[in-house]
Order: sequence, then structure tokens, then C-alpha cells
Amino acid sequence: MFKIIDGKKLAHEMRMDIKKKIEEYKSESGKEIGLAVVLVGEDPASQVYVRNKIRACEEVGIKSFAYYLDKDTAQSRVEELIRSLSVDNKINGILVQLPLPSQLDAKRILELIPFSKDVDGFSAENIGKLAMNEPCLVACTPNGVMKMLESENIGISGKSAVVIGRSNIVGKPMAMLLTNANATVTLCHSKTKNLKEICAGADIIVAALGKAKFVTEDMVKEGAVVIDVGMDRDENGKLCGDVDFENVKAKCSYITPVPGGVGPMTITMLMYNTYLSATRS
Ligand code: NAP
Repeated sequence: MFKIIDGKKLAHEMRMDIKKKIEEYKSESGKEIGLAVVLVGEDPASQVYVRNKIRACEEVGIKSFAYYLDKDTAQSRVEELIRSLSVDNKINGILVQLPLPSQLDAKRILELIPFSKDVDGFSAENIGKLAMNEPCLVACTPNGVMKMLESENIGISGKSAVVIGRSNIVGKPMAMLLTNANATVTLCHSKTKNLKEICAGADIIVAALGKAKFVTEDMVKEGAVVIDVGMDRDENGKLCGDVDFENVKAKCSYITPVPGGVGPMTITMLMYNTYLSATRS
């Protein structure tokens, strides 16, 4: 019998816990916690993400500072803003909503965020610390996956785990987190040979490749844990994940749905990182 890991419920519980911690921090220190959110342009999906992040801040008691810049904003203007936020004591976390318009050099902009305020966990310093299993701000989506596994007391040590997708924001940090938790990890990508066979031998599969319903029943071992990071559209334009949920679920011990799985955890972990960033500084 499989169990569906309810990301929506877990995210809500975690937000309530973070809210309580933030209230305690504020009353003990007399300080506020601030998150700067920078949005350049009018990409509709980015606008929704930014709105959701601001709403989550309100929910947990973080002060949000939103900066909406015109799509034609010059590189120097964005850099100037990030520099000023970097030294602003009211700001504990800086988030630049991606993707940025094409005239901007995203790498250079992100590199200006000091690692102590890098609440997305994308900086080379935070990724390097994660690789060395040292305390750091961990990328929100893979960290949310770890919290989901923990919430169900799913043992990771000694298990074989397969991560499909090697992006810097999901796949690679996911593989590092699982490695740090003593799993034996295979990190797969578009050039991987025998992907089906590799997946079929795994105790834990994390699908993060961005291809609708890619992971099929024949790729999953009986009793495996299947975590679906994907946010895709099926043939009818309906939101779905990288896993063929309906056909795969019966083989799993645990599985996450889309929507309502990993997605809600990501913003929650952003709130958590902002709290950590404030209390560590
Ligand atoms: P990405 O940057 O496009 O990376 C995709 C990765 O998947 C790449 O490493 C690519 O391999 C690999 N890949 C593509 N096709 C493959 C195939 N047929 N077989 C094996 N590997 C394949 O994507 P991302 O930003 O990591 O996002 C992945 C998915 O997660 C997307 O659906 C995205 O929407 C979703 N996502 C969800 C959340 C959330 O909060 N739930 C957050 C972030 C992302 P190569 O490196 O060889 O090209």
C-alpha cells in the first residue's frame, strides 16, 4: 500500500512552526526580519511567484521589501540595488526572481548577493559549503524534499538514490543532500545511458528533469520512494509532474503528487532560510 506525502499539509505545519520561531526571535531581539524580493520585467509566472513569496512572508511575520523594476532596466541599476540591499541592516535575505530579461547578466547580479543573505542558496559559497557538508543556506526545493522524507521518517542512510536532472538549483544540491545523508547517489541527466535500469534499482527516485510523466511504472522498483519535483503540463495543458503518478503509485511505498507535493515546500523553505539568515547574523 502506498502513501501520498502531502506537501501542502507539511508546508502549512512548517510555516506555523517558523512563524512561532520568528515571533520568539522578534520579542527576544527586538528586531524585525526582512526579505528583499527583486522582480525585473512583467513575466506573468514570475509575478505569481513573487506574489506568493510576499504572501508567505506576511503569513510567517517576515517584512517583505519588493522592488519592481522595468523590463528595460540597465545592468548597472540592478547591480546598484543589490549592492545597497547587501549592506542594509533591515534586509536579511535577497531574492532575485529568475529568469531575468536577456539584456541582464544574471550570473554577475547573483554573485553580488553576499552568501549570508543568499536565501535561495544558489551562491558558489553556499553550494561549496553544502558539498563539504557544512552549515549553509540550502537551495529551497531540494531542502524541501529532504524535509518531506524526514517528515515520514523515511530512512536514507545506506539506501540507493537516483536523482534525474543535474541543474544547479535542484538536481545537484539534491544529490549532495542525499549524499550527506549517507545515501548512495546516482545523478542522471540527458546523456545518461540505461536510465530505466538505473531507476529500476533505486530505493529512492527524485525526478527533476521537467518532462511530463517521464518516470513510468517499469522504471520503479516495488516499494520505492518516488519524489516528483517536476512542474509540467500534460497533453491537455493540465499541471502534472515528471512522474506518471496514476500508473506508478501502486508500486511505491511513498509518492508525492503534483500539484500539492514538493511545490508548496519550496516557498516554505525560503521562509526558513530567511529566518536562519537573520538568526545567524
Ligand atoms: P533544468 O535546469 O531544465 O534541468 C533539467 C535537467 O534534467 C538537466 O540536467 C537535463 O540534463 C535533465 N534532463 C532533461 N531531459 C532528460 C532526459 N530525457 N533524461 C534524463 N535527464 C534529462 O530544470 P530545473 O530547473 O532543474 O527543473 C526541473 C523540473 O523541476 C521542472 O519541471 C521545473 O519546473 C521543476 N521545478 C519545480 C520546483 C518546485 O518548487 N516544485 C522548483 C524548481 C524546479 P542535461 O544537464 O544533460 O541537459
